Amino acid sequence: MDNKSVYLDNNATTALAQEVLEAMLPYLREQFYNPSSSYPEAKGPRDAIEAARESVARLLGAGAKSEILFTSGATEANNAALWGVLRANPDRRHIVTTQVEHPAVLEVTKELERNGYRVTRLGVDRDGTLDKVELLQAIEKDTAIVSIMHGNNETGVIFPIAELSRIVKAVDSKVVFHTDATQTVGKIPLNLTKGLPDVDILTLSAHKLHGPKGTGAMFVRRGVRWRPWLIGGHQERSRRAGTENVAGIVGLGVAARLAMHNFVQETRLKLLRDKLEAAILEAIPNVFVNGQNAERLPNTTSFAFEYVEGESILLALSDAGICASSGSACTSGSLDPSHVLKAMHIPFSAAHGSLRISTSRYTTEAEVQRLIDVLPGIISSLRRISPYWDNETNAPRADVDVFVQEKYR
Ligand code: PMP
Repeated sequence: MDNKSVYLDNNATTALAQEVLEAMLPYLREQFYNPSSSYPEAKGPRDAIEAARESVARLLGAGAKSEILFTSGATEANNAALWGVLRANPDRRHIVTTQVEHPAVLEVTKELERNGYRVTRLGVDRDGTLDKVELLQAIEKDTAIVSIMHGNNETGVIFPIAELSRIVKAVDSKVVFHTDATQTVGKIPLNLTKGLPDVDILTLSAHKLHGPKGTGAMFVRRGVRWRPWLIGGHQERSRRAGTENVAGIVGLGVAARLAMHNFVQETRLKLLRDKLEAAILEAIPNVFVNGQNAERLPNTTSFAFEYVEGESILLALSDAGICASSGSACTSGSLDPSHVLKAMHIPFSAAHGSLRISTSRYTTEAEVQRLIDVLPGIISSLRRISPYWDNETNAPRADVDVFVQEKYR
């Protein structure tokens, strides 16, 4: 093993593809012109933006490239989707979403509530799946938008958005259906014309598919009632003001083209994921895979190790040169399990020991094997010092339920 670290946190961000970097460089050097300028030099950047728009439209199977607009990332695109639809439909004051959305949707809906809107947040079951009847019943007379993510960033659980958007449109064709597809675009093929005709707005981010950070896009289907979120200049046909991030947009375009050629990797990543899960479930007691029975992204596994603490697993993995992520929100100063795992009713003692592994097309089998080699040792040494673990029997203490409750009363 060389001393290069093993990167298994691709749902957080991905490595910039070499081809992307090379395509971007001229737009940071000689092709620096403002695409809105009238002299001929500006045509290069302007054409490059349009070529990128075409590539993103093709990746998404959009009907026309005019339905794609570029943003600073998925956070901006999600804000623009929600606020933009509400501003275009002032008589409608209700939003339907889920409890497991990314904060870039979740926090917006909280802010909307503070502004007098009503929000229904659909729950999920233990596998992280939604109840379609509940969705149907959640739609009210003045529902403006239903915002349901495509693939979950923590668990990889995929929501059946084709069917969910069809249900919404069947109830009220004027309700706008938005999906945050940040974690699925580039990982699994999707087609907004043939497969997802009822999805009105789709949002994505370049840095999750080997593109640059700080660039994203939104698809807004022609005819959808939506108003621009960023107002100012006339860029993006007055739908998103601000001088374009030309190099970033070019990078996203190339990333989109590369992704289309790499969907063949889906099977390899799925096999790698299945191998990892089988090996860990075999080698370690008291562990399960969050959302195991649901349809999931090929690159994501969320493990729940009972009676260990996620952050300690991450520290030990980091010592072993492996980058991964945990399911607790410790960065925000609390050790609470994430809102996603809470919504799935993962037991307290397991949600705390959650570990997210996410691969990419650059992940090798040897890297996953390295994780398989070191993880059992890490878990067993952490359990040896856990007050919940009985080292004699190598199992949880017989009175662990009472003990956990006492400790957390
Ligand atoms: N939505 C989802 C599902 C995500 O995973 C992320 C990134 N973690 C975002 C939105 C935010 O994307 P960005 O970093 O481009 O703002």
